[in-house]
Amino acid sequence: MTGGDGGMDAAAENIFGRLARGLPAVWRRVGSGAPPAEIDGAEVDAAEERFRRFAPALRAAFPQTPWDGRIRSELLTLAPQEGLPELLVKADHALPLTGSIKARGGVHELLWRIEEVARAAGVLDPDDYASLLAPAARAVLAGETVMVASTGNLGFSIGLVARAFGLQAEVHMSHDAKAWKKERLRRIGARVVEYQADYTEAVAGARAAAAGRARTHFVDDENSRRLFVGYATAARELVEQLAARGPLPTPAAPLVVYLPCGVGGAPGGITFGLKRLLGAAVVAVFVEPVASACVLAALLDPRDPPPSVYDHGLDNRTIADGLAVPRASALVLRAVGPAIDAAVAVPDDAMRIWVRRAWTRHGLRLEPSAAAAFAAVPLFLAASLGEPALARATHLVWTTGGSLVPQEEFAALLDGPA
Ligand SMILES: *Cc1c(COP(=O)(O)O)cnc(C)c1O
Repeated sequence: MTGGDGGMDAAAENIFGRLARGLPAVWRRVGSGAPPAEIDGAEVDAAEERFRRFAPALRAAFPQTPWDGRIRSELLTLAPQEGLPELLVKADHALPLTGSIKARGGVHELLWRIEEVARAAGVLDPDDYASLLAPAARAVLAGETVMVASTGNLGFSIGLVARAFGLQAEVHMSHDAKAWKKERLRRIGARVVEYQADYTEAVAGARAAAAGRARTHFVDDENSRRLFVGYATAARELVEQLAARGPLPTPAAPLVVYLPCGVGGAPGGITFGLKRLLGAAVVAVFVEPVASACVLAALLDPRDPPPSVYDHGLDNRTIADGLAVPRASALVLRAVGPAIDAAVAVPDDAMRIWVRRAWTRHGLRLEPSAAAAFAAVPLFLAASLGEPALARATHLVWTTGGSLVPQEEFAALLDGPA
């Protein structure tokens, strides 16, 4: 355990040693702070308003499934099971449209861009957002390009919604991206640029390719406040769901939230949103693959820019394609770094086991990145024994993706090596 207050102490060396051997590790901060003033809560409120304004347009753009145009997920309850307490599940793996948490951050930034472009061109009727699908708006939006780098889900989410509103989409995919995610994007008319390189390089490549291009917006996963606050909108949705279940958490009976983490935008935004509403009643646990534990590395070895996992002998090779990121977002570390309560690194084997268990026991179709949240629970509990508040805690796993994984891919995950 370490205070995360700069410099590498023996505890940090010990954690890096475990990771380098492929072993799980838990870092726990005692007494985290409130989020720093980097992000203003009003930015989150504005994002919530934007999602509300766009609901009629999203409903009209995706008429296949009957829905209200709101990108929301269910809160499920799973009975206690061997070695685990009762668990709440925030079921973002089944979010509308894209089946992953990227439907919050990625889609928010895209809606912001569509609004900005359409307003400037005078084709947005503020009383009728469905007008964005009419010919005048479509003609404007068709001349716009959105560019993004992705390990799969961010590109899919942005590409899908961009194409539905007629924008051009160019997605730079790192070598981790699954073939089916690329194929789906091509089928809907997005341009896919493939890299034989990792996510950090794909982001740099996309950023360079976008620079200076007219009528082009680059969604910068390493630096974007709009992604961050899009994820943060999930907090109020969850708090409303918790309030409907019973008393809200308190510091003496907290809510422990297990958040799968890549660059840190999704877990960071949610942590920011939840701590804004519930303060110290929330314990934020970031969950990463052992080989891609970039936020854990940045907490143990704080630097600017943040360290790469390669600097610490890790190879960034994991079955959790959504989390295969070697370097954390510096924005996220500034915005919520001191408010992160714990970071748990889970091995790929544990994710495989939980992909299977979540399906066979609970009927949840998760990709490995989302299953990581379950795998973190016993590790965190074992490392926190003796913390009195945790005996009264509620535990919530945030299942971040998987409902759209094709059947043959999912069957292969279930049948794969034990
Ligand atoms: C992107 C993603 C995450 C993590 O989000 P970051 O913003 O990269 O930290 C977690 N789970 C899944 C399934 C994802 O696609």
